[in-house]
Amino acid sequence: MGPMDEKLGVGKHMIPVLIVGAGPYGLSLANYMSAMGQEFKIIGKPMELWKEHTFSDASLRSEMATSEIAHPQNAYSIQNFRSQNGLDRGKPSDRINVREYRQYVDWVLGAIPYEIQPEYLANLSQLDDYFEAKMESGETLQAKQVVIATGVAHHLKVPAEFSSAKDVIHSYYTQEIEALQGKKVLVVGAGQSAAEAMEICRKNENQVHWYARKEPRFYSEPLDLPKWIFNLVVKSAGLFRRLPHRLIQYLFSIFSATTMTPDHKIKLADVNRFSSLPDLSAYDHVISATGYNYTLNHMNFLADELRDSLEMKAAMPRIDKNFMSSMRDLYFIGPSTEMFFGPPMKFMIGSQYVAPRLSKLLAR
Ligand SMILES: Cc1cc2nc3c(=O)[nH]c(=O)nc-3n(C[C@H](O)[C@H](O)[C@H](O)COP(=O)(O)OP(=O)(O)OC[C@H]3O[C@@H](n4cnc5c(N)ncnc54)[C@H](O)[C@@H]3O)c2cc1C
Repeated sequence: MGPMDEKLGVGKHMIPVLIVGAGPYGLSLANYMSAMGQEFKIIGKPMELWKEHTFSDASLRSEMATSEIAHPQNAYSIQNFRSQNGLDRGKPSDRINVREYRQYVDWVLGAIPYEIQPEYLANLSQLDDYFEAKMESGETLQAKQVVIATGVAHHLKVPAEFSSAKDVIHSYYTQEIEALQGKKVLVVGAGQSAAEAMEICRKNENQVHWYARKEPRFYSEPLDLPKWIFNLVVKSAGLFRRLPHRLIQYLFSIFSATTMTPDHKIKLADVNRFSSLPDLSAYDHVISATGYNYTLNHMNFLADELRDSLEMKAAMPRIDKNFMSSMRDLYFIGPSTEMFFGPPMKFMIGSQYVAPRLSKLLAR
């Protein structure tokens, strides 16, 4: 092969399916593809959010059964993990803490029969009838179909009103927050991440103030819904786009409510809370526990021409009932698709809907 052939990619292996992202969504899809004997490649830092961007002392808000990495034979259930490690199996409705969840994740990553290329995609472009993926290492891959499962990392929301602060840390950077000691800290937000950030900062002897415009709401689960309604909403994800607009709005109002677990009502009772923005110059750090904003423009690893050519709905590419964007063979899954498949996509449980369906479509 000559240098010109190399430039043109002649002779390179065409990957049938490239999964970009190795979080719960990417891995669940990979498990289904692998069990079907389909060729694919998966890239991304394995379970990055769960291993590096959650507070070590926190607990998951979802139950065990809704936090598992999906597999067609349910091989990676948390109960299996527990019994193989000599632990009490517990009940599917139990909640586990982040430390144990990380051990579960390592157990899954040790058991999967395929490799994950642990790096980021730097640039994805479309060439004729295939995609070219340039990795951060400079390696180039060619793929026929691409699934974007990049989760939350590119979408951190930090309101402009904190621009005058000395230092702003988004709650995604949990390790930076865990390292703060003896500082004056303002935590912003009314959700679980704000609650956990305040708890850890206080434990590490920081002076903590809290800014939340709204009164916090306390629920034990991410969603205060009877289980049968929750399961119905997950199972009907495919019908979501056909629901009447008012019902969609109602579902979002329940699923998107910002809440914290009731234990924080007591734990945070004596924290000084402001409902309007205090003087930021008084703080060493502002912790912005202000959530995520899903926008295609944040996905800067997609080439400009590719982004410009996608049909949009609000700020995200429109996807059809098969998770495919307006560009043939380019798919999006995970939290950024909740507008199309409903609020369960914001949680790990949504992957149990996506993986079996999309794996079949990709294998066709
Ligand atoms: C603090 C916090 C707590 C949460 N708690 C819960 C909970 O208890 N239960 C629950 O169900 N949900 C919870 N969620 C929601 C959570 O986002 C989802 O459940 C789930 O992690 C989303 O999975 P994902 O695979 O889409 O994305 P992520 O878990 O975000 O994984 C994204 C993957 O994409 C990779 N990636 C990113 N960019 C690139 C790139 N350019 N190239 C290649 N790879 C890339 C990352 O390395 C990673 O492997 C929580 C979210 C947060 C932020």
